[in-house]
Amino acid sequence: MEDRQWHTLSIQETEDHLDTDIDQGLTDETAQTRIERHGKNVLPEPKKDPKWLKFLRHFNDVLIYVLLAAAVITGVLGYWYDTIVIALVVLIIGIIGYLQENKAEQALEGIKNMLSPSALVRRDGKRKEIEAENLVPGDLVYLKPGDKIPVDLRLVAAENLKVEESALTGEATTVDKTLEPLDEKIGLGDRTNLAFSGTSVAAGTGRGVVVATASKTELGKINASIAEVETVQTPLIQQTQRFGKTVASVIAGVAVFAFIFGYFLRDYATAELLLAVIGLAVAVIPEGLPAIISIILALGVRQMADNQAIVKSLPSVETLGAVSVICSDKTGTLTKNEMTAQNIQLNDVTLRVTGSGYAPEGRIEHDGSIYSNKQDDTLNELLLAGVTCNDSDLFYDEETNQWMITGDPTEGCLLTLAEKADSPLHPLRIISKIPFDSAHKYMATLSVHGDEHVMYLKGAPDRLFTMAESSNPDFPVAEWEEKMTAFAKKGQRVIGVAKRTFNTSKQTIDHGDLYENIEFLGLVGIMDPPRPEAIEAVNECQSAGIQVKMITGDHKETALAIGNELGIPTEAGALQGTDIDELTDEELTQVVGNYNVFARTSPENKTRLVKALQEQGHIVAMTGDGVNDAPALRRADIGVAMGIKGTEVSKEAAEMVLVDDNFNTIFKAVKEGRRVYDNLKKTILFILPTNGAQGFVLLMSIFLGTQLPLTALQILWVNMVVAITLSFAIAFEPLEPSTMKRAPRPKKTPLLSGYYIFRILLVSLIIGGGTLIYNLYMNAGDYSVEYIHTMTLNTIVIAQMFHLFNVRVETESALNRSFFENPIAFYVSGALIALQLFITYVPFMNTAFGTTSIAATDWLIPFVFGIAVFFIIELEKLISRNIIKRK
Ligand code: ADP
Ligand code: MG
Repeated sequence: MEDRQWHTLSIQETEDHLDTDIDQGLTDETAQTRIERHGKNVLPEPKKDPKWLKFLRHFNDVLIYVLLAAAVITGVLGYWYDTIVIALVVLIIGIIGYLQENKAEQALEGIKNMLSPSALVRRDGKRKEIEAENLVPGDLVYLKPGDKIPVDLRLVAAENLKVEESALTGEATTVDKTLEPLDEKIGLGDRTNLAFSGTSVAAGTGRGVVVATASKTELGKINASIAEVETVQTPLIQQTQRFGKTVASVIAGVAVFAFIFGYFLRDYATAELLLAVIGLAVAVIPEGLPAIISIILALGVRQMADNQAIVKSLPSVETLGAVSVICSDKTGTLTKNEMTAQNIQLNDVTLRVTGSGYAPEGRIEHDGSIYSNKQDDTLNELLLAGVTCNDSDLFYDEETNQWMITGDPTEGCLLTLAEKADSPLHPLRIISKIPFDSAHKYMATLSVHGDEHVMYLKGAPDRLFTMAESSNPDFPVAEWEEKMTAFAKKGQRVIGVAKRTFNTSKQTIDHGDLYENIEFLGLVGIMDPPRPEAIEAVNECQSAGIQVKMITGDHKETALAIGNELGIPTEAGALQGTDIDELTDEELTQVVGNYNVFARTSPENKTRLVKALQEQGHIVAMTGDGVNDAPALRRADIGVAMGIKGTEVSKEAAEMVLVDDNFNTIFKAVKEGRRVYDNLKKTILFILPTNGAQGFVLLMSIFLGTQLPLTALQILWVNMVVAITLSFAIAFEPLEPSTMKRAPRPKKTPLLSGYYIFRILLVSLIIGGGTLIYNLYMNAGDYSVEYIHTMTLNTIVIAQMFHLFNVRVETESALNRSFFENPIAFYVSGALIALQLFITYVPFMNTAFGTTSIAATDWLIPFVFGIAVFFIIELEKLISRNIIKRK
């Protein structure tokens, strides 16, 4: 059935060819047999770079070049053994880097699978959400704004359906969809009765029958991969790379200088001197650092996913830690999105509705007694409008024993409301519809009602007041506004309901029909309480210097009332969408900081808000769920989409997707982002002194003309064991409590602050200096070269082991509660000691690395020295803390 010209067929013919039912869809059973025949609806993986190329890329690094040069020079000098080991180390670095990159990619891949798209279909006579990969030809698929179409469809219903097809045709304008069969010869872009895989619904709703899946779709045929390019280059990694280049040029300079110095002023043999200089170069290169950084980031991604936040790339982990403003939608993110209609306002009575949640238990009351829709026609019409002008379903879920809804909670609660009415109501059949969207803020349907056609309309009251006023100049707007404000001040989301009757010749409605002969019926006040955990998270954001800005399409009084409950400062009042429209970009940038509540906003307002905040130097996280939110999500530093109620289009535009739609999850991700960033910094703070200390010892030895304290191989050993054991622990370091009391890190924070550089130099000097003195002392004594080397090796490594415990806590005292909080620090210390015993006492290691067994009592010196280092640095931290505090 592949190459049928689907656009030329009538709906009836399509139905016949695909052996389906355009009203009921397929049965689960048929779908099952079809999936066996046609396979899953997935496109083949896009081509990736070959593995060998990816592997080789890990050797394209200046520091690796330095090591390779060292290997060549040792080879030329005839020290084959060193050549082989250095080459091996280079190989190991390459392999670790490659494996690490693979793992990070797989982690991101796995996380992307968590975002697999779904589709709303009719199966077994019921509407249900299924994974898009399980769609088969003949399935009946429902379309709504923001859907990413996952298959090719022949449309069987379309209500103002507009589809954005640029992914397929390159045309930027949206295409209006139709239902009639078309001429055979027209091109893809004009086949308006089909909807294609890879395109997305810009507006309107519709239904279609699946005609092609997977590689049989038009998208599949042209084999277009819409896979995004993943980047694992974070600003920090880039900074490290730049730092690496600086290190390399400094090494080159120092090496040349040391060589010249040693050659002319000290009596080294040329070969020996070359080896020493190579040792020096090897010593100061932090070989393990890049791998450790990406491990920490990848673990961060994992941790965020465990906390319900799906982050799509490694750089976002870093950016999250720097977020200074979170702009959040109110409805469903800061609030529970469990709506209950609590009040109804008719022309002259205010009614109360009892009961809570979606359970249809409760009643509509006036002054404590039942108020029946039998005795009040307006109430009856209002309730009927609520259930007719409605795309949601209310049902009792046997699994959870709960009343639940599918669709928009604002509509779901109107179904519950109607169930509470004294006399039952039945939705009318819809013949035409204007779907809800947050730009217009209303929805309308046209239905058959007895012997006339009736249009029901519901939406933001102010919009409906305008319509009612244009229909009837005497409409008492001021009075109704007062009534609406009374509801809104309680924090209720208010919906206005209206109707218009037509004769039966009226078949379709559009926006133009809304401004004449409108009869206003009343208001419904809907409660959507704040999430308790959001209240807490808002509070914690404030202590962490992160501003929370609430954005909503609701009325400003509703927004302010909820804002107060959430603890968002509201003294300045709310800035409304219409106010934003009147401001220029510069003016908006000026005032945006004053407001924390934005009401009656449109999606375009969001994009401008993001820009204005960024102008102010903020790093902005912005939430969004609708199809029109995509530009704002893309523009934000961190676009946040909703996993449950978000559209596919918004999820694609976002950097992070919240599995649970919860504000608290954003906050947790920011917190994790700060922890990760801190740990990255601590890792650098920890690793560099290893290189600094060795560099110092070697350089001094060359200058003093003494026996070299370590060979190049031993230096590589030190760097590698410190990287794979000790620094690994830092990845697991918990968040320091003070981290969430600090303001966010400014946008362009350099990798190494002045204090960090000072600390790195200080520790390098202490460990390097101590080792040097001990070395000179042993040189003067009666020790073999191997013995001295082994002792030097142990001294540096064990000192770093103790230093790890300094670094675990950045500036506070390390000797506090958190000392035992990270068991990994102790495990890796154990592993490190085991490795040192191994290289000291195992004969073949002795031969390989030029080490030798030492007396048991000679372990005392490294340990005593290490403990001394620990306390000296703690003392330094204490002094620095006080200096910084006084500033
Ligand atoms: P939010 O961004 O807070 O979700 P929306 O843009 O969805 O705000 O809604 C704005 C206003 O539009 C609401 O205050 C309500 O009056 C009205 N509204 C919301 N949902 C619907 C709906 N499904 N049908 C009709 N009107 C709605
Ligand atoms: Mg909404």
